[in-house]
Amino acid sequence: MKFRFVLFFLIFPLLIFGQLQSPSQFLGYELGTQFSRHADVVGYFEHVAAHSAMVKYRDYGKTNERRRLTYAVVSSEENMSNLETIRTDNLKNIGLLPGESTPKKTIVWLSYNVHGNEASSSEAAMNTLYKLITEHSDYLKDVVVIIDPGVNPDGRDRYVNWYNQVKRKPYNPSPDATEHHEPWPGGRPNHYLFDLNRDWMWASQVETQQRLKVYNEWMPQIHVDFHEQFINNPYYFAPGAQPYHEILTPFQREFQYTIGKNNAKHFDKEGWLYFTRESFDLLYPSYGDTYPLFMGAIGMTYEQAGHGMAGLGIINDEDIELTLKDRMAHHTTTGLSTIEVASQNVAALVREFRKFFTNDNLKFKSFVLKGNSDNINALTQLLDRHQIQYGFAKGGTVKGFNFRDGKKGSIDSEGALVVSTNQPRGKMVEVLFEPHTHLTTPITYDITAWSLPYAFGLEAVASTSLVAADKGEVEKFVPNVIHTSAAGYISKWNSLDDARFLSELLKNKIKVRYSEKKLSFGGNEFDRGSLIITRSDNKDNPDFDSKLIEIANKTKRELYASPTSFADAHTDFGSQYVHLIKDKKIAVLQGEGTNSLSYGTLWHFFETQLQYPITAINTDYLDKIQWSDYDVLILPQGNYKSILEEGVFTKLENWISNGGKVIAIGSAVAVFEGKEGFHLKKNGEKKEEEKDSVSAGPNLIPYAEREMDSTKDLITGSIYKVTLDNTHPLAFGYGHDYFSLKLGSDSYKFLPDGYNVGYIKGDFESVSGFAGEEAAEKLKNSIVFAQAKKGKGSVVYLLDDVLFRSFWQNGKLFMANAVFLVQ
Ligand SMILES: [Zn+2]
Repeated sequence: MKFRFVLFFLIFPLLIFGQLQSPSQFLGYELGTQFSRHADVVGYFEHVAAHSAMVKYRDYGKTNERRRLTYAVVSSEENMSNLETIRTDNLKNIGLLPGESTPKKTIVWLSYNVHGNEASSSEAAMNTLYKLITEHSDYLKDVVVIIDPGVNPDGRDRYVNWYNQVKRKPYNPSPDATEHHEPWPGGRPNHYLFDLNRDWMWASQVETQQRLKVYNEWMPQIHVDFHEQFINNPYYFAPGAQPYHEILTPFQREFQYTIGKNNAKHFDKEGWLYFTRESFDLLYPSYGDTYPLFMGAIGMTYEQAGHGMAGLGIINDEDIELTLKDRMAHHTTTGLSTIEVASQNVAALVREFRKFFTNDNLKFKSFVLKGNSDNINALTQLLDRHQIQYGFAKGGTVKGFNFRDGKKGSIDSEGALVVSTNQPRGKMVEVLFEPHTHLTTPITYDITAWSLPYAFGLEAVASTSLVAADKGEVEKFVPNVIHTSAAGYISKWNSLDDARFLSELLKNKIKVRYSEKKLSFGGNEFDRGSLIITRSDNKDNPDFDSKLIEIANKTKRELYASPTSFADAHTDFGSQYVHLIKDKKIAVLQGEGTNSLSYGTLWHFFETQLQYPITAINTDYLDKIQWSDYDVLILPQGNYKSILEEGVFTKLENWISNGGKVIAIGSAVAVFEGKEGFHLKKNGEKKEEEKDSVSAGPNLIPYAEREMDSTKDLITGSIYKVTLDNTHPLAFGYGHDYFSLKLGSDSYKFLPDGYNVGYIKGDFESVSGFAGEEAAEKLKNSIVFAQAKKGKGSVVYLLDDVLFRSFWQNGKLFMANAVFLVQ
């Protein structure tokens, strides 16, 4: 009996778990000698989970291309049997669940391969998992490790599949070889070509949306985002570079050093080169290091040399061969080293984590927001994704910083949205809503302003006292009903949701008009741009009423049914100022020369937000298309000088003269500069002789200050107040001004002909963010949005990219206006 009992315990684990294999055994090749496809990585994680009681492996969703999004939870067997308690204790500790707890465990989250072509990191994920449970399980006594082996599987497989097709056997380390030159758009971004390491906060992408749910269930104390950089750089790990966001706590700053020094110890032992405190700053809240930091964790980026150029091996500029095996070994070492540090500092991590979530001394207590109800809804949806609490005010005047005027002011809070910092995630609230981000240095890796009241185009006041709010009644949508005797229906026009409604109408062949004048029917006033759907236009459509009502109810648009076409005043339905909106055939350029991120935002916008068809045309066969098949051509940001060279440009010009419309975004407008009939001239360009150092005087800027000096001409994402001509269709649905996110210092003069629709007149008004003195000077008297007419057609200039990362909600209507309303 006893014998059988012992035998049972010897065999039992084998029966359940079988034989755990190393990644190399499982995959059938030595790890680091091939790139593993995402499915193989998933396969290995499944294998480990099936063969170890220390690992659970779960799915958290699917990508756009239906690849699995997954995470492994790894800890000691004892902890694994108690996992749910560990998870909930962690949330209780910081007030996210009711009840008290003093957790004895800490949580470390490792995210791999957010940039698909930084491909050593998913290999390192497999290696790290295996070594962790076979060689370093002592780290796991009080540490729960979460491993996401592939944050961006679509991007990874885009890279890996391409590489496997072109690589040689043995691999060719010459930087000239094809295998080191990824074709456009490369494997870095996801399916819609978004950079997922800029999307944590805006959560526009399905990968982010699904990951945030799991992240918020666990709330780790440490988060590492594994990356790769150019092939010549030594390894980078924490501490990060300045500027640090001022919200970071002393402990978060110090612990970056604690972790960095432990990594350094292991790297010194191996003789590996590294750097810290340079290049990778901690400011913009949408990264895989800053987002976790603002959610209380020690968030860090680790950067290995490599990325899409490196392949299995490449000779770099220092004549060193950089191999995938080395890249993987470095990432494995820092991953394990980070878990080691966590295991030595459990009590401090847990204690300080709790402290982070008590928010007594923040600058502002409440942000009170009012305005466009669709934009308010979009904002609350974003807050929901981050589990940030909000409520609605009962009324009364609230004083504080007024965002619109940039000074002290007040707001009538009746029904206003209130987001307060007296909640666990209060620090994140402050980071997102505060009007000005404090910068210790302008040399930063990303944008310096993102304040949400501006991004969502809302009236807002930041108050230093707490504003009472309750759950409130979100205004219920009252479904529309059919009015068979109506001469027509009118619907407002001031948000992306209205544009979605229009898109649905056009797709369903319902004829619709817009009014370029204000309307007055049945005692109701409607602004410019309002949609009019008349019975007369749709008399051949027997399902007109039912289809229209169905679409309006689906998109939650309120219709006013007018019994007559006769207006209370001025503009009737049949007025010359009421125009039919044509079903537009839209082409968007993509491919070599275009900016893949900018193209990606257009693709994502039309396909998932506006839900209106576009035809993507590659730049390499542009000269072969039949231009007359299209009404609108959109040029994403890019460099078009060689794409639209003379012959092609002439065709384009003819098409415009015959009625075509170009929408040029950001850097794309440059292709029209100085061309006859497009009225576009640069602002503040120095003449050749001024650039000459002899006439300008000697350059006495010290060498050591060259980097800082270069910031004079820099704008790295700052918010500007722009004056709008909202009588022009491009600005329908907006007020007299607009807060724009300016991403660069390119500046163009007012058009002498055509329409200057959005502009900075006289002195600029930078509302938030950094602008160098020379760059700022150039913005005086410059256009932001404009329309040049040529023959029967026109070009719409959108100098500021209104779709940038899909987060500037209030800018999106400009794109719909440009496509559908601008004549
Ligand atoms: Zn990266």
